[in-house]
Amino acid sequence: MDFLFKRMAIVGLGLIGGSLARIAREKRIAEQIVGLGRSRETLELALAAGSIDEYSLDLKQGSGNADIVVIATPVGVVVDAVREIAGSLKPGTIITDVGSVKKKIVEEVESFLPSHLYFVGAHPIAGTENSGFQASFAQLFQGARCVFTPTERTNAPAAAKVKELWEQAGCDVILMEAEKHDRIFAAVSHLPHLIAYSLVNTVIDAEEKEGGLVNFSAGGFKDFTRIAASHPVMWRDIFFMNKENILPLIDHFTKVLEELKSYIVQEDSEQLTAVLDKSRRFRRKIN
Ligand code: NAP
Repeated sequence: MDFLFKRMAIVGLGLIGGSLARIAREKRIAEQIVGLGRSRETLELALAAGSIDEYSLDLKQGSGNADIVVIATPVGVVVDAVREIAGSLKPGTIITDVGSVKKKIVEEVESFLPSHLYFVGAHPIAGTENSGFQASFAQLFQGARCVFTPTERTNAPAAAKVKELWEQAGCDVILMEAEKHDRIFAAVSHLPHLIAYSLVNTVIDAEEKEGGLVNFSAGGFKDFTRIAASHPVMWRDIFFMNKENILPLIDHFTKVLEELKSYIVQEDSEQLTAVLDKSRRFRRKIN
């Protein structure tokens, strides 16, 4: 079978970029895979694992001959990385990303990208709370969905090739407007992460008053807070970049929490049971 790409460059060989490199190698998606990034240590790990053929710390030089460049850094870095490499890419090069926020990235990249380069915004909905190349694995994307956020400017053949890439990696590709993507993920991913971080910090404060309390943490605390072990820089960037959608949800969450508090204060058994039951029924419908 022919390779989908002759030369694929991946910027950022962490959980997502590393897993993509592994599956691209395994499924023979690209003939040559070049790793790009800021630290030699990470790139050496990927090279030793056989996931990339070569690497460079110089994004411009390393991406020069690529057919496709996948930016897999924290979202705050994506636009600058595209800006840095754009001048040295050959005409027809496809650039795509994996960022968890889409509107700002897509809008900004499209505002300066020359018409001979093609950008396709993408977000594979797969991940764990672990980060770095050490946490990457080829099966990460198996059975996951990958959201594409094309615009009027998106080049159709380029989007078709990026779709093929994610399908070969194991994903089902779905299309969505970037604005809708950011609204949805603010609710189902960004807010839960923010709340998990704040819950852990609340327990840290309690632990300071009552030492050893965390030794008694059971399934509930651990299930709820697993995602608070996620990478702080990745999440800092997401919270800043999608604040337009996250801030109203924080206000709403605060209101819901205040309501629950008032039912407890008033010992309003009917209301408290009703809201807990509403959550329980909804949660049980989700796998
Ligand atoms: P990660 O494991 O922390 O990997 C990030 C990679 O980006 C690392 O290799 C890091 O380099 C590199 N990097 C960071 N800053 C850089 C910079 N200024 N210049 C060049 N390289 C830089 O994070 P990840 O989980 O793979 O996330 C990467 C992207 O995927 C993010 O945009 C995130 O929103 C998105 N995403 C994440 C998940 C998830 O659950 N984790 C799911 C879907 C999408 P070093 O090796 O030197 O640290």
